[in-house]
Amino acid sequence: MKVGLVYDPIYLKHDTGQHVENAKRLEAIISYLQQTQLKPQLTLIRPRAATIDELSLVHHTRYISHIQDVAQRGGGWLDVDTVMSPDSYQAAVYAAGGAIRASEAVMDGEVSSAFALVRPPGHHATSQQAMGFCLFNNIAIAAKYALTKYKLERVVIIDFDVHHGNGTQAAFYNDPQVLYISTHEFPFYPGTGRIEETGSPGTGSTINIPLPAGCGDEEYLQAFQQIIVPATQRFNPQLILVSAGYDLHWADELALMQVSTNGFAQMVRNIKGLADELCGGRLLFSLEGGYNLRALAYSVKATFDVMLGNTSIEDPLGQSPPRFPAPNIEPLLRTIKEIHTLS
Ligand SMILES: [Zn+2]
Repeated sequence: MKVGLVYDPIYLKHDTGQHVENAKRLEAIISYLQQTQLKPQLTLIRPRAATIDELSLVHHTRYISHIQDVAQRGGGWLDVDTVMSPDSYQAAVYAAGGAIRASEAVMDGEVSSAFALVRPPGHHATSQQAMGFCLFNNIAIAAKYALTKYKLERVVIIDFDVHHGNGTQAAFYNDPQVLYISTHEFPFYPGTGRIEETGSPGTGSTINIPLPAGCGDEEYLQAFQQIIVPATQRFNPQLILVSAGYDLHWADELALMQVSTNGFAQMVRNIKGLADELCGGRLLFSLEGGYNLRALAYSVKATFDVMLGNTSIEDPLGQSPPRFPAPNIEPLLRTIKEIHTLS
């Protein structure tokens, strides 16, 4: 069983200075994968640049030109938290191309599953707006690319980043071929992702699971078992894509969730189980958030371990020290099940 790693040092050239989303994130992951001897177990896949046509699957051409122009002018701030350097356009084009390459490698059977370790991240980027550290929506572009090139009819995107993937939701809100399922802290940035946002009337192809602060491994497992697993089984996808953000780790200071590295492994086990059961194992991950460097590196490695079928998971940071009591999310899950008729 081959597992692909999409990576290229070009991703380090998106220079954000002292910003929390910086090149040290990928450096920490890659060096930990090397240090733990995991990297030799993976099949390295080099990304390519996404073409303008491929970027246009999700973004307006005027927006793409604007991002290119900002880079050519030396970079700058696109909104209060999204910044570009001169090489950011190229890095972003390769980030989208990395997610595309991951989908090609999986669909062509070069590997059974793949993880695109890319930056800038993507899930907040809309058709014509950069936001939340994101320039191009890598996972949405890869999903549209796979639907088009391989003539797929049903793909599922699972987004477990602690923030709601507003850009991805918008890209597929009217598209019955794509089931978008997101768990996210709520209320929180970017403000979207309410349970009532269920895709255009009649499609039901968006499932939002907005979780209160303080959720940990147990609550995420409940959300998977009660909603994500049965909803994905019912949709019966031909490919599963994952917006993999690790900012719900308890040690991550950007949010207030309490998930451990073992908790990520448990979520990925559920997702891999769905891919094995429903779509011949075809599964790809694309990196979104995750800002505590140790938590990020340990949890990405745990993700690869599960993809490889390795049973022992190292969790050097362990469980969250008690900070606040875990919330009772049963009533919320029950309501979401009713909305989506998941008995
Ligand atoms: Zn995030």
